[in-house]
Amino acid sequence: MAGAPPLRKDGALMTLASLIVSIHDISPFHFHPVQRQVNEMARLGVKRMSLLVIPRHRDTGSLDQHPALVGWLRRWQEEGHEIVLHGWRHALPEGQMKSPIQGRLRRWFYEELYTAREAEFFALDRASALRLVEQGLSAFSVHGLHAQGFVAPAWLLNSQVEEALRDAGLLYTTTRTEIVHLPSRARFPATSCVWSTRAAWRRGASLLWNARLARRLAAREPMRVGIHPTDLDSPKVWRQVRRIVSIALEHRRPTTYLEWITAQTPRDKEGS
Ligand SMILES: [Zn+2]
Repeated sequence: MAGAPPLRKDGALMTLASLIVSIHDISPFHFHPVQRQVNEMARLGVKRMSLLVIPRHRDTGSLDQHPALVGWLRRWQEEGHEIVLHGWRHALPEGQMKSPIQGRLRRWFYEELYTAREAEFFALDRASALRLVEQGLSAFSVHGLHAQGFVAPAWLLNSQVEEALRDAGLLYTTTRTEIVHLPSRARFPATSCVWSTRAAWRRGASLLWNARLARRLAAREPMRVGIHPTDLDSPKVWRQVRRIVSIALEHRRPTTYLEWITAQTPRDKEGS
């Protein structure tokens, strides 16, 4: 099991084979595709999922104005699925479409190409991040939704944002390649399958990359599958998502990020 993170001795067997399916970008704009995705995953046997919800998608997609979505989320939460805070508006504010750090290729790549301007938390300082995270958590709690985890849009955050998540009392965050237990600062390597469907060449590359990754992850713990609403746009992509999840379910137990990180947190790391 080379490369697998250290596991609790007493929970080794119980926690060895986990599958974390996360449904990204849940908002009023995506209610129909995510309903279909969650229903199909549940029918495949994914009894636990992490549902990544955007409280005010691009300013106008507000949970407050979509009681049907809120009621639907509450029902899944009651069945044991997890609600996760996924940014605030999931986009850079209009006035910040141009990067505050000029001329840096890396920022251009991340903000324009890789994320299509979705890197909402990538350049935030600690205080600004904390303000948005607290807004998000209270937008959830007025509707009876409770999150202990935060996933930044496009998984992009910096160390100040990570401190803000600790300030807000959250338990964990994830990047594309890690799950981070915030109180102990323990980082668990775990790369997520994720598909890019924005352009044909990306779809082709995604299919190859995820097929290879799924094979490589067969011996890793946990296995993560990140699903976006646009994955439904390509039948080939959606077929591969379903196939990877179905194969994983033969020997892995579906769980949420919250359940998984809670089971991994060694007692000796608490309070350190
Ligand atoms: Zn997202």
